[in-house]
Amino acid sequence: MCYNVVDGRFHQACLHFVPMSTHFRDCLEPNCVFSSQHRHPPKCASNACIHHMTPSAKNPIRLSPSRCPQCATNAPFDPSRPQSPSSSNSSTR
Ligand SMILES: [Zn+2]
Ligand SMILES: [Zn+2]
Ligand SMILES: [Zn+2]
Repeated sequence: MCYNVVDGRFHQACLHFVPMSTHFRDCLEPNCVFSSQHRHPPKCASNACIHHMTPSAKNPIRLSPSRCPQCATNAPFDPSRPQSPSSSNSSTR
């Protein structure tokens, strides 16, 4: 089956994967509707053909020991975060 390969940077501090570029990986199978070897019309209704792609594979081409830009801009870890005071615990029983 065809799938997308997502090249990106893996941040080891926050375990986040930041995608940088995506490549389409053609399986070249004639029974796969996404393949360039597929010979049926684009709206293929054949049960013999594969109509779904494999989930995209993450390919960490870079490893970064720091946090990702998203986590670096956000507050790193704040346990004293102000809770929303909308907790009116009126238990109606
Ligand atoms: Zn395929
Ligand atoms: Zn087909
Ligand atoms: Zn992150």
